[in-house]
Amino acid sequence: MPETLRPQVLVVGGGPGGYVAAMRAGQLGLDTVLVEADRLGGTCLVRGCIPSKAMIHAAGRYADMAEAAVGGEGNALGIALDRPPRLDLERLVAWKDGIVDRLNTGVAGLLARAKVRVIMGWAKFSDAKTCTVATAAGPVAIAAERVVLATGSAPVPLPDLPFGGTVISSTEALSPAALPRHLAVVGAGYIGLELGIAFKKLGAAVTVIEAADRILPRYDAALTAPVRRWLQQAGVALHLGARVTGLDAVGNLVVTAAAGETVALSADRILVTVGRRPLTEGWGLEEMGVDRAGPFVKVDDQCRTAMRNVWAIGDLVGEPMLAHKASAQGMMVAEIIAGHRRRFDPGLVAAICFTEPEIVNAGLSPEEAEAAGEDAIVAIFPLAANGRALTLEAGAEGGFVRVVARRADHLILGLQAVGRHVAELAGEFAHALAMGAVLEDVAHTIHVHPTLGEAVAEAALIGLEPVKL
Ligand code: FAD
Ligand code: FAD
Repeated sequence: MPETLRPQVLVVGGGPGGYVAAMRAGQLGLDTVLVEADRLGGTCLVRGCIPSKAMIHAAGRYADMAEAAVGGEGNALGIALDRPPRLDLERLVAWKDGIVDRLNTGVAGLLARAKVRVIMGWAKFSDAKTCTVATAAGPVAIAAERVVLATGSAPVPLPDLPFGGTVISSTEALSPAALPRHLAVVGAGYIGLELGIAFKKLGAAVTVIEAADRILPRYDAALTAPVRRWLQQAGVALHLGARVTGLDAVGNLVVTAAAGETVALSADRILVTVGRRPLTEGWGLEEMGVDRAGPFVKVDDQCRTAMRNVWAIGDLVGEPMLAHKASAQGMMVAEIIAGHRRRFDPGLVAAICFTEPEIVNAGLSPEEAEAAGEDAIVAIFPLAANGRALTLEAGAEGGFVRVVARRADHLILGLQAVGRHVAELAGEFAHALAMGAVLEDVAHTIHVHPTLGEAVAEAALIGLEPVKL
C-alpha cells in the first residue's frame, strides 16, 4: 500500500454535516481530509432536502395550471387556461437533477478553496484514528490526529415490506420514471407527506396510511389541522391508526385499520417513509471505542464521543435529523478543534414541513412549555388578518402565527406558524430564540409592510396586550 496520509483532521461523510465541518476546518488552517463514498452533498443535496423541494415547487406550478384549466377556485384571479397543462416528467426530473449537479459542483469548489483534500471512496476504520479508503485507484490509508464522523442516515424499511419492486423509499420517489397512477404512502411524517402531496398535485391518486391517530404526530394538532384539511379537500385518502403489515399474494397492500379489520389496497407504487436510521454499519464503528445512545452514536454538547479526539455529528448522533442541525454541529466541531469555545444548543434548531400549507416550528409548543413547568402566554395571530397573506391567497386556510412566551419575563420560548409561504419565517423565529428575545423585542421591531412577518409582530403584540380578534 502507498504511503499513509496523516492529516490533522479526517472527516468521514460529505453531507451537510461533514462537508461543512471539513470546509470550516480548512478555512481555519487545519490540514483536512474529507472522505465521501457517493457524492458530495450527502442525503440532503442528492436525495433529500434539495431534490424534494424542487419536486414540490414543480408540482405546485403544475397544480395551479391544472386548476386554471378546469376553472376551479383559483380562477377567482381571472386567470384561465384553455387546455390542461401537460407533464413531461423526464424533463422535470432532469431539471431537478440539474440543480443537484450545480450545487454538487459548488460544494466541491468550496472545499477546494478551503484546501480540503477530498478522497472519493468508502472508509473503513481499523481503530479510532486509522482507516482505509477503497478508492477507484486503489486503497488509501489515513491515520488522523482528529476524526469527525458524519456518516448520516438511511431510510428504515418495514420488516414485512422490504424496499424493491413497487415498494420504494424517498430516494426512488425523487427520480420517478413515470407518474404512479396510485401512490400509497406508508407513514405520515414530514417526508411522506411532503412527497405524497407533491405526487397528488402532479396528478397521482394518493392514499396515506399512518399508525398514529393523526398526521405529523411529532407536531401539535393545531399546527397540523390546516394540512389535514388540505388533504381532505384534495381527495387524499387517509387511513389513521392503521398499520401496514405487508403485501398479499397479488401485490395488494395489507392494512390493519384502527378497528382491527384488514383492508387490501391496490397501488402501483408504495412509498415507505416510516423514519430514518443512523448509518452505523459497514465502516468499523465497532472498532472505534465510542458509546452508543440507542441506535445513534452518543455525544456530549460539544459532539465529543467517548473516544478522545473523535467527534460525531448530524443524523448519526440523533434527532432532530435535519440538515441545518448537521451543519451547525459540523461548524462547531471544526471551531472546537481549532481551539474555539463552542457548545451546541439543540433547543435552537427550527424545523419546517414543506407540506400544503407549510408548517414552521421553533422552540417549545404550548404543550411542551407546560410540560417543562412554564407558566406561558400563548398568543395567536390569524393569517386571514394579514394583508400580504391575502395577496398571496394564503388567508383562507386557517393558517396562523403563534408565539409562546414566559409570563413572568416575556422571554420567547417558542414560535410556530402554519400557512402558505410561512417557511420563510423560520429565519426570524430562529433569530428571536437565539437572541433570547422577549415579546417586546419582536412587537417593537418595525416589520416591513406588506409581509407575512407583520403577523409575527402582531402575535407578539397580542401576547403583551390580549385583544379579541
Ligand atoms: P448525510 O447527508 O446522510 O451524509 C452522509 C454522507 O456520508 C453520505 O453522502 C454517505 O455517502 C457518506 N458516508 C457514509 N458512510 C461512509 C463511509 N464509511 N465512507 C465514506 N462515506 C460515507 N432536512 C432538512 O433540514 N430540511 C429538509 O427539507 C429535508 N428534507 C429531506 C427530504 C428527504 C426526502 C430526506 C430523505 C431527508 C430530508 N432532510 C431534510 C434530512 C437531511 O437530508 C439530513 O438531516 C441530512 O442530510 C443529514 O446530514 P449528515 O451530514 O448527517 O448526513
Ligand atoms: P417520521 O417523522 O418518523 O414519520 C414516520 C411515520 O410513520 C410516523 O408518524 C409513524 O407513526 C409512522 N409509521 C411507522 N410505522 C408504520 C406502519 N407500519 N404503518 C403505518 N405508519 C407507520 N422533523 C421535522 O421535520 N421537524 C421537527 O420539528 C422535528 N422535530 C423532532 C423532534 C423530536 C423530539 C424527534 C424525535 C424528531 C423530530 N423530527 C422533526 C423528525 C426528524 O428528525 C426525522 O428525521 C424525520 O421525522 C424522519 O422522517 P420520516 O418522515 O421518514 O419519519
